[in-house]
Amino acid sequence: MNTSGKIKLLLVACLSIVGLLIYIQYQLISNTYRLTKVEYEKEVKAVANTIISKEPGIEKQLLSRITAVFSKKAVPVTIRQQLFNIIIDQSNSTVFGLERQYNDSFRRMNALKDVSYSSSYDLFTIEINGNSFSLVQLVNQADRSQNRLTDGDCLLQVRNFQGIIDEKNLQLNPNLKDFHNLKVKFQGKQFINIAKGQGEIMKRMTSTFLLAAGLLLAEIVLFYAMFSAILKQKRLTDIQKDFANNITHELKTPLSSVKVMFKSLERKEVLENQVHLGQLLQSLKRQYEKIQAITDSVLESAMVTEFQPELCRCDISQHLREYASDLRLEKHLLEAIIEPISQELRTNLAVLDKALNNLIDNAIKYSPESLKITFKAYAQHDFYIIKIIDLGPGIPITEQHSVFDKFYRVPERNKHTVKGLGLGLYISKQAVQQLGGSLTLFSKEGGGCTFTIKLPINEN
Ligand code: ADP
Repeated sequence: MNTSGKIKLLLVACLSIVGLLIYIQYQLISNTYRLTKVEYEKEVKAVANTIISKEPGIEKQLLSRITAVFSKKAVPVTIRQQLFNIIIDQSNSTVFGLERQYNDSFRRMNALKDVSYSSSYDLFTIEINGNSFSLVQLVNQADRSQNRLTDGDCLLQVRNFQGIIDEKNLQLNPNLKDFHNLKVKFQGKQFINIAKGQGEIMKRMTSTFLLAAGLLLAEIVLFYAMFSAILKQKRLTDIQKDFANNITHELKTPLSSVKVMFKSLERKEVLENQVHLGQLLQSLKRQYEKIQAITDSVLESAMVTEFQPELCRCDISQHLREYASDLRLEKHLLEAIIEPISQELRTNLAVLDKALNNLIDNAIKYSPESLKITFKAYAQHDFYIIKIIDLGPGIPITEQHSVFDKFYRVPERNKHTVKGLGLGLYISKQAVQQLGGSLTLFSKEGGGCTFTIKLPINEN
């Protein structure tokens, strides 16, 4: 397996481990949440029960209310349905009254401030003269559903009750003389709702959340750091490999030309032909200069960072006008727009020319023949701006931060016929920085490149 394959495998393994760790932390948080909720519920139930147990029970209240109503002679109970209605009314007002009373007491307690109380009937039976009638349906119609367990409701207790209304009380009311042996039976449930206590549960879990988030962050940062180091190392290795290929490629052509020329020089007829000999020596000189230029740029790239050029005051627009008029482009159109006003600044023109040469060379190298190359210069506020604009293929946005790196070439272009060592932009940027300026690139793929040199205009 090659290095890229191994890195991909490592990435997949690391992502799986991060995924697994996230899952484990999720389980940890949800289990802690469940435990914290159970504990909170237990605490709240204990406090709620002490409050409820202090108040007179629902059963006693209900029975005495019904009895009290029946004792009044005026209560018009002539048919059974009216009797039922009275019982239901009294039951509901007892239950609602208690509900209000408990909720008021809860609100006054800090531990129960987020809790609300409710109750419901599962069974509600009236027995008259030995006959049983279920009223649960009627009771539940009064907005008390049988098993209403909504989100956050938890059961506090189930209460069973059976009470007999004293016959003497019934006989006090002439309307009730036909009713004997009146029994009320019910089963009720009491709930507390802790849905609003979510905030308290979350508060109790703060340390767990912080720990989990911290661990997760640490894992991600570590993996990120590890991967960026691996990728950086791989990129360096790739760049070095590319550089070795590029320099071999760059030197191969002039060296093989030199070899052929030397072979020619061994031939007697060539040595005797002065014209041919002169041409051969000229060609040899050119190939020598090519090899020299290649080795110079490699050498320069190694030394460029340490070099500190000497600066002197000069008229930069005058210099750039001369520079532009000396430019001879064979296959491209040159448009030079240099501001005619003279502008003095402290710089080193030889270092500036080095940067400009590389940028102009690139514009020529990478843009197709007969297209325009624009060379612009003007002062703007406290800066002197120089722009080299071409209409070539441009540089993809993803590559733009790398093209200024030493030996870096946009990968696909290596397969193309344009030769290079990936040093031109690196040398240009270093040169402009040595002059206290900046070199930036604006480009859209397919839309050409604009390189901008910005030099400070300092009055001293
Ligand atoms: P070289 O030209 O020797 O490859 P440079 O450092 O000058 O090295 O440029 C780095 C890379 O940036 C080049 O390989 C090329 O892909 C891209 N590049 C530079 N200038 C231009 C341009 N004007 N148009 C398109 N691509 C460019």
